[in-house]
Amino acid sequence: MLLLIKNADVYAPEPGGRCDLLLGGGKILRMEPDIRIPRKYCEVLDARNFKAVPGFIDGHVHIMGGGGEGGFATRTPGLPLTDAIMGGVTTVVGCLGTDGYTRNMAGLLAKAKGLEEEGLSTYVYSGSYGLPLRTFMPSLEEDLLFIDKVIGAGEVALSDHRSSQPTFEAFTQVVAMARRGGLLSGKAGIVNVHLGDGPRGLDYLRRILAETELSATQMWPTHINRNPRLFEEGIAYAKGGGFVDFTTSTLASYLRDGEIPCSKALRRMLEAGVDPGHITFTSDGQGSLPDWDPKGRLQDISVGRVTSLFPAVRQAVQEEGIALETALRVITANPARILKLKTKGRLAPGMDADVVLLDPRDLQVRSVIAKGRLLMKHGKALTKGMFE
Ligand code: ZN
Repeated sequence: MLLLIKNADVYAPEPGGRCDLLLGGGKILRMEPDIRIPRKYCEVLDARNFKAVPGFIDGHVHIMGGGGEGGFATRTPGLPLTDAIMGGVTTVVGCLGTDGYTRNMAGLLAKAKGLEEEGLSTYVYSGSYGLPLRTFMPSLEEDLLFIDKVIGAGEVALSDHRSSQPTFEAFTQVVAMARRGGLLSGKAGIVNVHLGDGPRGLDYLRRILAETELSATQMWPTHINRNPRLFEEGIAYAKGGGFVDFTTSTLASYLRDGEIPCSKALRRMLEAGVDPGHITFTSDGQGSLPDWDPKGRLQDISVGRVTSLFPAVRQAVQEEGIALETALRVITANPARILKLKTKGRLAPGMDADVVLLDPRDLQVRSVIAKGRLLMKHGKALTKGMFE
């Protein structure tokens, strides 16, 4: 069945004016004013009062759960489909975190395939916090070559007490393997790098650019908004051509301790002259949000949510005065380009039919379409996960 979205105010993410979108076979077939199709051939969604934007891409989600940093009972649950739907997230990249032992690549791939069956588009990174990388095939290059869903490695932890304290050489080798596997497979071959609060910050990444032939396109450092010092380093790194990712799941205590809200972080980066194409947001959904005391003892632990992703973009528009088309890029066109997801992140004929309709008054997510299938209509989810 075709789906015809009528009269939407299109942000592709750049403003495209009033258009109809004809969706079929999981793709955007046409996008132009006044498409006429006999009603018996298509379902019609009147979008006269809505903005149509690309489905959101969340490039860092612990889809099978994560955590466990306070013992077994603190292992977090996997991603429920409903959270993605309510958050307008139509594409997720799954990762493993601190725990690459009770969680592994087989489980991560199985969860990614399950979410794909339920309607999302899913990808994964190979490995987890620690090095040497635990891949599915004998090497990262082979994971990239032979497992469709693998688009890179990560989240490899640096500058953190939970990292494996990898040497510079060991980390560089992972970026090199990602580069080689990416070239051979035609994928991004990117390393998603978790940055902790440690004083070494982005040191290894800067050294890779200064001392090796590898380029900034192979590294995507995340949690750059976690403290003021790392954030300042991030500005310089991004101005030097690197990508920087901010984490939208947060706690009030993190903000008190100096974490910069994503909306403010975006404004400050833009004011500092960073290329808007180099900034992204991810949610760290289903990851644990541990609250450590100054002596490193775990005080409390909660769970990140993919539903935090778009509210950070909305906040950037409503509170920081950033244009919608600029703010949208950080969860649509930018991650699609950085992760080489060629049919994602934009509204245009030939792209995947991932569309979110926003209420223009309050920018609330009202309807969600993933690969041409309506998952939410007028604020109501039309489906849910198998065991929800
Ligand atoms: Zn992380």
